[in-house]
Amino acid sequence: MKIYSWKELIWALVFIYLPILLIGTLFNSLAELLFIAFFIHILWHYYYLKKLNNWLWNNKSTVLPHGQSEWERAFMGIHNMQQRHRKRRNDLARVISRFRAGSEALPDAVIVFHKRGEIIWCNRLAQVQLGFKWPEDSGENITNLIRNPLFVNYLKQNSYDEPLDLISPNNPEKTLEFRVMPYAVHQRILIVRDVTAYRQIDAMRRLFVANVSHELRTPLTVLQGYIEILDSQAQPDSTQAKAIKVLEQQTVRMCSLVEQLMTLSKIESAPNLDLDEHVNVPALLAQIENEASTLGKDKALLIQFDVAQNLCVRGDQMQLRSAMANLVYNAINYTPIKGSVKIIWRLCDEGAYFCVMDNGDGIAPEHILHLTERFYRVDGSRSRNTGGSGLGLSIVKHALMHYDSQLNIESNLGEGSQFSFVIPANYLLN
Ligand code: ADP
Repeated sequence: MKIYSWKELIWALVFIYLPILLIGTLFNSLAELLFIAFFIHILWHYYYLKKLNNWLWNNKSTVLPHGQSEWERAFMGIHNMQQRHRKRRNDLARVISRFRAGSEALPDAVIVFHKRGEIIWCNRLAQVQLGFKWPEDSGENITNLIRNPLFVNYLKQNSYDEPLDLISPNNPEKTLEFRVMPYAVHQRILIVRDVTAYRQIDAMRRLFVANVSHELRTPLTVLQGYIEILDSQAQPDSTQAKAIKVLEQQTVRMCSLVEQLMTLSKIESAPNLDLDEHVNVPALLAQIENEASTLGKDKALLIQFDVAQNLCVRGDQMQLRSAMANLVYNAINYTPIKGSVKIIWRLCDEGAYFCVMDNGDGIAPEHILHLTERFYRVDGSRSRNTGGSGLGLSIVKHALMHYDSQLNIESNLGEGSQFSFVIPANYLLN
């Protein structure tokens, strides 16, 4: 298709007006002739302008109106543009309907809303699980429909790394997991999943572990008592005495495993921290220092505690003790003879900083990510020699979760390790 050009326009004008100029001059009526020519020219344009308006505003037909010269090209241009827009609109409609069909097929409730809160769209499950009405609730603020204050605060936070668990507004026996994700520009997508079964299984697992460890305690204590009696009666250096020694070591290991399992269950199922409770961390670290020096005596370790006195926190003493003690005992256990261990507790910009450094065996990078998993041990035989169960760092991780904190691990094989965490400033006692 030829495109409109100035050169062409000038030629067309010359072609129309030059003969008029010549005839007008010849017959001495140039003004009248020019006026008539202009008038006809304007009428011609007006005719096509009207045709264009009629086509654009009144006529629903997609058939191109007939035009001449530039008008034909203008009609063609607009027609092409319309076709392109129509195609784009159809493509978009297809994408949207595919997205909607996909969202309807999901086993979760899906709600798309503007970051200010107005609901843009929701699927059928959102109507079933949350009682939304569609399309009546379109444009309604999401916090008017999900009024739980925990959800309102969760939305306000603007950081959605962790999902939020809430009791279903329709059925108090159901637990729903709310997960928000940024979506398109200034939009959010909320996915609500029924996690009742998962949470029940998790609670059952915790209860089972807690009960089994509790039940194992009594027979283990009885066993330990009898082993002591047998030990006192056995002939020194006899086979019997050696067997009793092994029995004793294994029951001690089992006792410590049971204790750790119970601590982990207790911390995992502990409610939110009671911020009215105060923890005197320097006093706590003084106790740990005493135990550490006894534990590290045989290896002649250099153990240094650098503790900011008066730096105390709110929360749970048992949880904080478990976290700190496990890190210190690990450093002592995994640092060879004459090594050094340093413990720091001091104020930092974000809150209070706790760090345990050692110049022990270190850990290979591929293990670091897994260390806080239950029963994960880098080297089973080495850990067994140290009486390890693989639960220590898992306990640390869960205790720190209650403090909105996490464990940082830096280590180089053969050079030593550094385990640290920060207790956020809002938990500090002024
Ligand atoms: P364990 O009871 O076996 O010590 P943990 O969960 O406390 O279990 O630690 C997991 C593993 O991490 C340990 O088996 C050990 O291999 C490694 N580890 C922990 N602390 C240190 C450390 N300070 N130096 C070297 N390795 C460590």
